[in-house]
Amino acid sequence: MMKKANLIMLGAPGSGKGTRAAALCEVLGVEQISTGDLFRHNISEGTELGKLAKSYMDKGELVPDDVTAAMLEDRLKQPDTKKGFILDGFPRTIRQAEMLDKMLSDLGEKITAVIYLDVPDEEIIRRISGRRICKSCQASYHVSFTPPMHEGRCDKCDSELVIRDDDKPETVKKRLEVFKSTTFPLVKYYEDKHLLVTIPPELSKAGAVADMRELARKLNLI
Ligand code: ADP
Ligand code: ZN
Repeated sequence: MMKKANLIMLGAPGSGKGTRAAALCEVLGVEQISTGDLFRHNISEGTELGKLAKSYMDKGELVPDDVTAAMLEDRLKQPDTKKGFILDGFPRTIRQAEMLDKMLSDLGEKITAVIYLDVPDEEIIRRISGRRICKSCQASYHVSFTPPMHEGRCDKCDSELVIRDDDKPETVKKRLEVFKSTTFPLVKYYEDKHLLVTIPPELSKAGAVADMRELARKLNLI
């Protein structure tokens, strides 16, 4: 029997949050909600929100809290989140975490656990530099760790794989700084609430569905 779980995946850019969240969603049968993907979707659709978000993302900066939180709240209100969800890329500031607490309590929900991927800087750089994403469905690959079956093409939809605009070296450096100064304090925030589960560097390398199943078992979710 699956238990309902409302999880947060926390980690630096390139720590493997997205891949891990996708595998864990498969194990638990819950929705993955990635604020980065929601922004990229808006950018590719050319919406006003997309234009605004892009101006921050291209510089490696965070999109303002109010804009991001409003977008997330809309997503959380959709009925498919009732079976549970994994937030990937939200919250990224203490203020976003406080806004999330409020949103969830309004919906009669709460956070089950926060999974923190502890990954060293060198590893992050290596991962980001090999990262490729699908132009149309946003599926994520790594040229050496999780390569697609056919080079340069998405396994799911056969579209072209590209390097994300914000994965350029200068932007990556800025994103890592923002993570350390602004997002990292969330580790303590959730530790204090006794919600934090840290995945140590040696374990955060593997990311297969089997590993996530084991984690889900450890957390008593399955
Ligand atoms: P990564 O974790 O690899 O940086 P994401 O796809 O999660 O990738 O985020 C890409 C960009 O989208 C961020 O650098 C930021 O500009 C924006 N973004 C995503 N989530 C948030 C958020 N919760 N708050 C503010 N900006 C966000
Ligand atoms: Zn695709």
